[in-house]
Amino acid sequence: MSPTPSTPVDLRSDTVTRPTAAMRAAMDAAPVGDDVFADDPSVNALQSKIAELLGFEAALFVPTGTQSNLCAILSHCQRGDEYIVGQQAHCYRWEGGGAAVFGSVQPQPIDHQPDGTLALAAIEAAIKPDDAHFARTRLLALENTIGGKVLPFDYVAQATQLARDRGLSRHLDGARLFNAAVAQAAERGTDARSEARRIAECFDSVSVCFSKGLGAPVGSALCGSRELIVRAHRIRKMAGGGMRQSGLLAAAASHALEHHIDRLANDHALARRLADALRDVPGLSVETPQTNLLFVDLVGDARSRSTELLAHLKREGVLATGLYRLRFATHLDVDTDGIDHAARAIRSFFNA
Ligand SMILES: *Cc1c(COP(=O)(O)O)cnc(C)c1O
Repeated sequence: MSPTPSTPVDLRSDTVTRPTAAMRAAMDAAPVGDDVFADDPSVNALQSKIAELLGFEAALFVPTGTQSNLCAILSHCQRGDEYIVGQQAHCYRWEGGGAAVFGSVQPQPIDHQPDGTLALAAIEAAIKPDDAHFARTRLLALENTIGGKVLPFDYVAQATQLARDRGLSRHLDGARLFNAAVAQAAERGTDARSEARRIAECFDSVSVCFSKGLGAPVGSALCGSRELIVRAHRIRKMAGGGMRQSGLLAAAASHALEHHIDRLANDHALARRLADALRDVPGLSVETPQTNLLFVDLVGDARSRSTELLAHLKREGVLATGLYRLRFATHLDVDTDGIDHAARAIRSFFNA
């Protein structure tokens, strides 16, 4: 075994990154004001930058992706409305039911297909007729990437066109939109920014996280029309998300947009490197990662050794999440050596 690294190889999530020295310098240099008075130049600059980058009129800086999705859903929907969403979508499954709790907006979840999409026929079938028995179907919410998978662009175009034809608004939870854009750009030989904008243009609102692969400490942005962002701003206030000298955080996010988009390709390469290093290990079924999230299923007898494996990895200085289905997230704070160490630690557990 290689020596255990002094800081763990932390593959639990791409949220664990710490701001780089250059990002801290940008934060230190940021001019700030009081954003509740719309007076913080660094927040205003970030909001203009992300809105322009994704082709929207306006944007709102919010503390978390959860609050961003909440502001979006409550801006699109009224009490008694519903949104169509995937069973595994963050804004249905992983946000404490916020849209229902705070907004009396009912989710209409539908199953995903293996590629992460929601079948067009299933979306169509979930749209309710205008009838007093039913909630009013108002919104289609997609997520890209979803479980690390990039939604095929043609699918995004078709699903959002279907929603538009049926009078629904369209929201994208693009927490990892730039991972999708970087993967799509590599495939099409284009650049990540134009791919991000191409995806975003299919939607009425888009939420992006700065605190995931982009490596900022805190924050997300919701983008949309000026009118939508005015509504979202009120909801952010009600949710307690009006921040003051948040320019310190916005400066980190702006730095990330300038310096950390294209480098997401490294994270994707590291996820593939780990997958390739594990493929022949008996007891493991290794997915081929499309972006920075690698899923590995424990199969056969190995299933009963799941907790033992995670404990072994922890002793070896490797952190991951999951039970029978492990998740390894690559990010700014892991490198080739860390990934190779993780692969050796996993292989040694299986004597492979
Ligand atoms: C992380 C994440 C969010 C928001 O997370 P916060 O922890 O609230 O910032 C939303 N959607 C998706 C898909 C995510 O991965």
